[in-house]
Amino acid sequence: MTTTLEQRLIDYADSHRDHLVRLIGDLVRCPSENTPPVGREAACQQYARGVLERAGYSPELYELESVPGLLDHPLYATGRDYSGRPNLVARRAGSGGGRSLILSGHIDTVPRGTQHWTNDPFSGHVEGNRLYGRGSNDMKAGIGINLFVASALSDLGLRLRGDIVFESVVDEEFGGVNGTLAGRVRGHLADAAVITEPSALRICAAQRGGRTVHITFRATGGVLIKDGALPSGVADQVTYFLKALPDFAAQRKRVPTHPLYARCPDPVPVAITKIFTGPWGSGEPITIPDECKIELFWQLMPGEEQTTVDREFQAWFESMVASAPELFAVPPAVEYAVRWLPGSAIDESLPLVKEFSECASAVLRAAPPVVGIEGPCDMYVFHGFGIPAILWGPIGANAHGPDEYVELDSVIAAAKALLLFVCRWCGVGD
Ligand SMILES: [Zn+2]
Repeated sequence: MTTTLEQRLIDYADSHRDHLVRLIGDLVRCPSENTPPVGREAACQQYARGVLERAGYSPELYELESVPGLLDHPLYATGRDYSGRPNLVARRAGSGGGRSLILSGHIDTVPRGTQHWTNDPFSGHVEGNRLYGRGSNDMKAGIGINLFVASALSDLGLRLRGDIVFESVVDEEFGGVNGTLAGRVRGHLADAAVITEPSALRICAAQRGGRTVHITFRATGGVLIKDGALPSGVADQVTYFLKALPDFAAQRKRVPTHPLYARCPDPVPVAITKIFTGPWGSGEPITIPDECKIELFWQLMPGEEQTTVDREFQAWFESMVASAPELFAVPPAVEYAVRWLPGSAIDESLPLVKEFSECASAVLRAAPPVVGIEGPCDMYVFHGFGIPAILWGPIGANAHGPDEYVELDSVIAAAKALLLFVCRWCGVGD
């Protein structure tokens, strides 16, 4: 790529900063909450379609159910309702002789949640370097960056040699996968893909897997007051489990660390993500709880297999229960609450990683770290279809929590690097 073109791309991004910020704000102001089994992504997809149309593309909205072979695919997760939740795709054919590329992202967000937000979660308001709102970080900034790249190519009159595909999918949160899967099964394939998830300006060439279980502890035969003492209900069971859990975490640490997680202090974290017993409130009678539910989430290295992971947990859990038979007279029930989410990685020596790193270095004035992202996502679907894929996106915070925000300087930097990479990867005609 000539330095003149590189400079034109960077100048374009600088002079159109307000346009990109407005795009992301508009996307945040258009809620697209995913509340399984349903989701409300349609209005936001329509908005994105409009942006692509105005940039001269011919975007298509398609229903997932209309994709032949999707429902029978082994990765397809059942139990979701996709009526009125279309995927969006726009493909521009290259002039020939270049490599093809998919820029992908998910339009759905987690729900606003019941926690307190300082401001309206759908205001998309800007304070200094931050744009706030549900999905601002995960990942409407990324969708905005992809749409911005599409507009830039048109505004600058750049004809790419390789094909480029812009994709906005539904239902990624909650282990969805089906939106990303639909794109691949429908035949949107390429020589590489960049998913603009918030990667904090790091090239993420790997993702962890994740396993979630819901454990229900129950007291034996209700809670009876006997011999003048207060019964413990489920509290003793839960205490015993919580004390034993570090043993499981320690056991997990014996899993060999994938090289892309070598600098991560805890490559395979084990976390309690919910503890529930109730109902809560001073209006409720004071009672000893006879049931408690715990959500346990642990993460996995790329390459770990479901059968081994499940067997390891079950063996540990059963031995924990067996070690206190008097306590667990009613054995706790275990349910796998979310589908199996595998880890996945590509080789960091691939041209995709190398060339992206060079483009990002030109913008950041230093090579970005190449690492694995701190959790599961849809990237493994691309890898499974033989498409090298990375995550690349801005810096932000509070994804899935209140007061979620994205840092705008990092959004501009991410957009510049992506713009440079698109032109380099696909090639620009005369
Ligand atoms: Zn995301």
